[in-house]
Amino acid sequence: MNTQPTAGATAAQVLHQVFGHARFRGAQADIVAHVVDGGDALVLMPTGGGKSLCYQLPALVRDGAGIVVSPLIALMQNQVDALGQLGVRAACINSTLDAEQVRSVEQALLAGDIDLLYVAPERLLMPRMLATLERSRIALFAIDEAHCVSQWGHDFRPEYMQLSILHERFPTVPRIALTATADPQTRGEIVRQLALDGARVFVSSFDRPNIRYAIEDKREPRRQLLRFLRERPGDAGIVYCMSRRKVDETAAWLNEQGLCALPYHAGMNAEKRTANQARFLREEGIIMVATIAFGMGIDKPDVRFVAHLDLPKSIESYYQETGRAGRDGAPADAWMLYGLGDVVQQRRMIEMSEGSSETYRRVSMNKLDALLGLCETAGCRRVLLLDYFGEGGVPCGNCDNCLAPPETWDASEAARKALSCIWRTGQRFGAMHLIDVLRGKDTERVRQWGHERLTVFGLGADLDEHTWRGVFRQLAALGCIRTDHEAWGALQLTETSRPILKGERSLHLRRNRPGATPAVSRRAPAEVSVADQALFERLKAWRSEQARQQGVPAYVIFHDRTLAAIAARRPESLDELADVDGVGVRKLERYGPALLDLLGSDPNMGSDPS
Ligand code: ADP
Ligand code: ZN
Repeated sequence: MNTQPTAGATAAQVLHQVFGHARFRGAQADIVAHVVDGGDALVLMPTGGGKSLCYQLPALVRDGAGIVVSPLIALMQNQVDALGQLGVRAACINSTLDAEQVRSVEQALLAGDIDLLYVAPERLLMPRMLATLERSRIALFAIDEAHCVSQWGHDFRPEYMQLSILHERFPTVPRIALTATADPQTRGEIVRQLALDGARVFVSSFDRPNIRYAIEDKREPRRQLLRFLRERPGDAGIVYCMSRRKVDETAAWLNEQGLCALPYHAGMNAEKRTANQARFLREEGIIMVATIAFGMGIDKPDVRFVAHLDLPKSIESYYQETGRAGRDGAPADAWMLYGLGDVVQQRRMIEMSEGSSETYRRVSMNKLDALLGLCETAGCRRVLLLDYFGEGGVPCGNCDNCLAPPETWDASEAARKALSCIWRTGQRFGAMHLIDVLRGKDTERVRQWGHERLTVFGLGADLDEHTWRGVFRQLAALGCIRTDHEAWGALQLTETSRPILKGERSLHLRRNRPGATPAVSRRAPAEVSVADQALFERLKAWRSEQARQQGVPAYVIFHDRTLAAIAARRPESLDELADVDGVGVRKLERYGPALLDLLGSDPNMGSDPS
């Protein structure tokens, strides 16, 4: 059963037969055509945009093997498994293979028995590997995660800087570099470092329409998280926390609540960390509680949510981290909690960052401010997010603010009272005490300082504590107040606060709503109706069993989306099944009969006398 595309197969045929997709997505068609013709390309596409196909498909259409440079050794095997399921002859060479295994892959390559070969960059640069490649037929070089050339980025890999050698040694082989990092500086560096001056650049929209953005007021973070998770039973997702300790504690607590959560951070021993990552990738429905050490290349397509318990440091980080949700295109959530403490903590980290230049601190502050703007906006989150990356857009209908537009209120007077309370108490107290004073609470601290005698005492009794917290947080986000870290986080006034205090500037703030995020009920992808739900669950159970038997992740067998489409369409023949997106020739042969059996015995199909 040879499903290798025969020589001369068109890209469209390979797309349909091997990958089981009806059509190209976005720029894929142009990119594939360009590379099939032997052109160099630089592809900038968001996570989940479908980058892999841009090199996998040309590698199949062109003569010889596609060589894929990837820094993510841990994930190579998953790629190879997934391609194997499609009937594509794929292999990898990295440090996890012994000498014998490497030799056999090299032999297969020389014999022309490999379509796609994944290689770690340090391995590729070895003289022996380069010599083997020179004796092989090579369809193309793909340089994945190309932003790793950037010395300024998070993911810098020194070996990437030497990859221009590919251009020197193999001048006629097309090269395609791919990344999900959008900024122009990184793009310039990639072109320079990889000698891609002549390459055609393909920039896709960075919108991720299937991701629902929501940012909630932080009140009782654990309870809010639990509610969020309980609304999504069985979903796999990532919960990001700022510190290692918080990761450990949160994971342990979630387990006590009966959820399946695993911790991941750089302070754990490497073995445990790798084991947890492997379980997250292979098993279904695991919640990974992690620091940002858990990140690049988590190419699990069915991550259904990314939850932030703490604020990231910039919109770039937020976008990158949330982007790990919903790579399969099915609905996914990006959910974040945010409070005054986050503003204070992030500012503090920037101010205290040792050895950093003044410029660095200023840039970091500006980036943080942009993110705070995203948190505080009453408008569409997505519009603001895309605007930050230089893209326009209209309100999306798929963020918390679009779904339930927040009320705004004229907070000019409240802001004036808050600022004046800071001033009258000598700029020496944090928000908690200030709110007590404003609300006229009789506490020990109030009496100790004689604050019940101030004119501001009880001046804000008309507003509740949550509302006041919102006022302070938003004033901090706007830069009207700052925190003195030397003085235990005392709030102080800034120049920006002056016009507000004087009544020259009015302030409209969003009203905080308790648990405002509209619950999205989607145990399954949106296209699965309630009636199909039971069948969808049975298909998933069948898939789990297949995955277990073969020792591969479930999504490698079929994506949720494909199972959802099968549940909705209930195909009655192999031909009908072949029309479902994600069912290629090889998977049809291998799983088709079992699936039709399962559908035939479906109690909802009508034969059941109920
Ligand atoms: P990226 O590497 O850009 O994050 P992937 O290559 O992993 O994205 O693709 C994301 C998902 O989109 C995968 O699940 C893939 O199967 C799916 N996909 C890619 N191209 C198409 C297409 N033309 N039609 C349908 N699904 C596609
Ligand atoms: Zn929106």
